[in-house]
Amino acid sequence: MNEGKVVNMKWSVRNRKYSHELTAEHDGEHVGIAGWVHEKRDLGGVFFLIVRDREGFAQVTLHKREVDRELFEQARKVPRESVVMVEGIIKGEQKAPGGFELLPDRIEVLSAASPVLPLDPTGKVGAELDTRLDARFMDLRTERTKHIFMIRSQVLKVIRDFLNERGFIEINTPKIVSAATEGGTALFPISYFEREAFLNQSPQLYKQMLMASGFDKVFEIAPIFRAEEHDTTKHLNEATSVDIEVAFVSAEEVMKILEELIVVVYSKVALYHGLNSLNLQLKIPGIPFKRIRYEEAIELLVEAGEPIEWGDDLSTSAEHKLGAQIGEHYFITEWPRAIKPFYAQPIEGKETSNAFDLMHPRLELASGSQRVHSYELLKQNIESKGLSTTSFEFYLDAFRYGMPPHAGWGLGVERLLMSMLELENVREVVLFPRDRRRLVP
Ligand code: ATP
Ligand code: MN
Repeated sequence: MNEGKVVNMKWSVRNRKYSHELTAEHDGEHVGIAGWVHEKRDLGGVFFLIVRDREGFAQVTLHKREVDRELFEQARKVPRESVVMVEGIIKGEQKAPGGFELLPDRIEVLSAASPVLPLDPTGKVGAELDTRLDARFMDLRTERTKHIFMIRSQVLKVIRDFLNERGFIEINTPKIVSAATEGGTALFPISYFEREAFLNQSPQLYKQMLMASGFDKVFEIAPIFRAEEHDTTKHLNEATSVDIEVAFVSAEEVMKILEELIVVVYSKVALYHGLNSLNLQLKIPGIPFKRIRYEEAIELLVEAGEPIEWGDDLSTSAEHKLGAQIGEHYFITEWPRAIKPFYAQPIEGKETSNAFDLMHPRLELASGSQRVHSYELLKQNIESKGLSTTSFEFYLDAFRYGMPPHAGWGLGVERLLMSMLELENVREVVLFPRDRRRLVP
């Protein structure tokens, strides 16, 4: 152990490679690898160090009779999960991971690990989610967790690429705001100098205001904050939302964008090499997704014995019952005005609005609507929801000087990942989740 010792800061890894870059074809090359001591195997005359890096594993093989005694002892003594760099010659070896081994001439322990680990990074000994989240830095060393976050990174890239290719402008709106987006959902108050402010629950008002600016297709990928008291497997207090808003289109057009996006995400993730460590066979959904009206959904649920009536929001059990019947992603359209926000366009002559939810058979993924773009109607809707128009003045102003018709949606990134990867708990896909109990790490 080099605890307390100052590590020589002049070290460097010559010709550093990731483990997956090396194969038997590199036989004879002198390379360096850097990573964590995943496993040690002592066969008496031969000693193996399995070094893990971001991309996989490399076997470092030390033949007792051939290597320097000091080098051999150093390898034998290094605690599991210490950070090491190893330099040596590559040799093809079919039995080793990746089909090669590294015959070292230099091993340096850059940071020794304490011997008692908070969890087992080989994944052989399982751990409760809470234990894993408490030691997330170590949990991320396990293959399964690592792949979840590699996929998360890929999914965000796919979404950005998809929207950029379609001519969307990426925007950033404030996360410290003065007014509630919709009322209803609880907000986190914060102190903002001498005033009270809130963490934003959605970029809704701001992305709509941009429709008045001529930015006719915008998207934002950013945190949303919801002070939801309940502790469920699908709610976070800080989540990530993909929001889009598009001018001169109807709800149907943004629904098409949404279903195409879902299919593109699934198709890209289906090609990801790490899927087997998640035990997953991804089925790419077919489009168009089924569209059912809220009214039809209620009928189906009543037939299925669910205690629900027209006007009620869907409970978790209702979402599950509908999902089981439909079996694939689907949209629920034409929701009662009373349970959708003031900015959803009312359907003339009916008690409903042109709002939709995108559902995975297990849970809601996204909500969207055709928006109200008439200043008068919007003002009226805000009032009829019992909200004060003064706190919405900055937003309402954007509707007075030329506001095109527009539509949009907000999609929960964590809900998408959780449902796609068939994970039980939404916290699995957040590095450091924020929930009712969890504010650290
Ligand atoms: P739910 O009814 O399922 O709690 P919601 O209807 O309140 O969700 P919206 O305001 O419609 O949520 O937000 C749009 C999307 O953002 C949701 O469909 C969901 O994917 C995601 N989302 C909203 N709140 C949360 C949350 N607390 N945790 C994780 N994702 C969320
Ligand atoms: Mn919703």
